Amino acid sequence: MTTTELLQYDREHIWHPYTSTIDPLPVYPVANAEGVTITLKDGRKLIDGMSSWWAAVHGYNHPVLNAAAKEQLNKMSHIMFGGFTHEPAVELAVKLLPLLPPGMEKIFFADSGSVAVEVALKMAIQYWQSQKKPKKCKFATIRSGYHGDTWHAMSVCDPETGMHGIFSGSLPVQYFIPQPSVKFGEEWKEEAIIPLHELLEKQADEIAALILEPIVQGAGGMYFYSPDFLVRARELCNRYHVLLIFDEIATGFGRTGKLFAWEHTGTIPDIMCIGKALTGGYLTLSATITHTRIADIICSGEAGCFMHGPTFMGNPLACAIASASVSLLLESGWQEKVKKIEKQLSEELAPATTFETVKEVRVLGAIGVIEMKEPVRMAFLQKRFVEEGIWVRPFGRLVYLMPPFIITSQELSKLTGSLLKILKER
Ligand SMILES: *Cc1c(COP(=O)(O)O)cnc(C)c1O
Repeated sequence: MTTTELLQYDREHIWHPYTSTIDPLPVYPVANAEGVTITLKDGRKLIDGMSSWWAAVHGYNHPVLNAAAKEQLNKMSHIMFGGFTHEPAVELAVKLLPLLPPGMEKIFFADSGSVAVEVALKMAIQYWQSQKKPKKCKFATIRSGYHGDTWHAMSVCDPETGMHGIFSGSLPVQYFIPQPSVKFGEEWKEEAIIPLHELLEKQADEIAALILEPIVQGAGGMYFYSPDFLVRARELCNRYHVLLIFDEIATGFGRTGKLFAWEHTGTIPDIMCIGKALTGGYLTLSATITHTRIADIICSGEAGCFMHGPTFMGNPLACAIASASVSLLLESGWQEKVKKIEKQLSEELAPATTFETVKEVRVLGAIGVIEMKEPVRMAFLQKRFVEEGIWVRPFGRLVYLMPPFIITSQELSKLTGSLLKILKER
């Protein structure tokens, strides 16, 4: 198939994420990817600034992950998880659970981040149903959050700035409080917790859980907020009998400078979701984790079990790769790498604060965000990025970098340098 044929067929038949079929922006055919370099079919090479949406923390085509995949492939790619278990799933749980908040000892393997969120929300509802509190079936969350694209996950995404406003008429209506007003690194102010306090005081008898992305809000706004908010939210959730769910699908596996974002305060949620970088970006796999006490209450109810079981639950191939990826991460000196990336991003993105078009520059861990005053011109920027040899995919007013942790300082300088050069052009 020639590149022209490929692009033409793609344009006529294949949906891309959040893309029009009438007038889609161009897509770039990829031939292969290795380390932090993405090679296009026409031979052009791009330095990856996105880690394929938080996932590819070790870069692409990693020999260790490839070997794990091949080894598992020769045994079995998949087997149903109903009635069976297998080493890849058990080994992955053995590795993951000690890395998660103490006491979280029951893990549910699902097939994508959105499904992990659905599972968490369903767990919360069953938890209250088992205790004869069926009225507690709504959710509270903070504005500008993002929790996925499936139905109940959408209902807790920001209804306006989020991507799902169009469905608002048909989605379950949840309780939203403003984004935590104290930013990461700023001094805590008690007034920042008032909206949550007032909400729980009034509505706790209808609220099953508070769900939020700890510290870093991803796709809903790339916003970093004070860890103290989590401490205070935990206290309030205890006091008003509301479960606390941490969605660590984006923040997990080192991205914010801690292995998981809850570690910034030691605040322990009741339920936690992980995904994205779990398999090092190789395959789709997620997990929802909770405490034994909560799992037991869920299963002591009318249903007698937790009512969920995806076809590809605990997929052995994905679990084997995830297991290799977690070990690889722990042995990689990720903490120093992320710290180095953080320092370099801070230094090299700082000049953008003087650009007339830029509102704010913020960096945390291996995440660098340039918030523009106006929404960016995607078509123009995407084309220029590719011409300059970098892969960056902005959305709305946000231009951001979250490179694989293996990026060298030269490669990162190329990313930041080209990015600033192009932002200056517009
Ligand atoms: C990406 C993301 C999800 C959804 O994960 P998918 O694998 O795309 O379904 C949920 N929550 C957060 C915080 C995310 O960043």
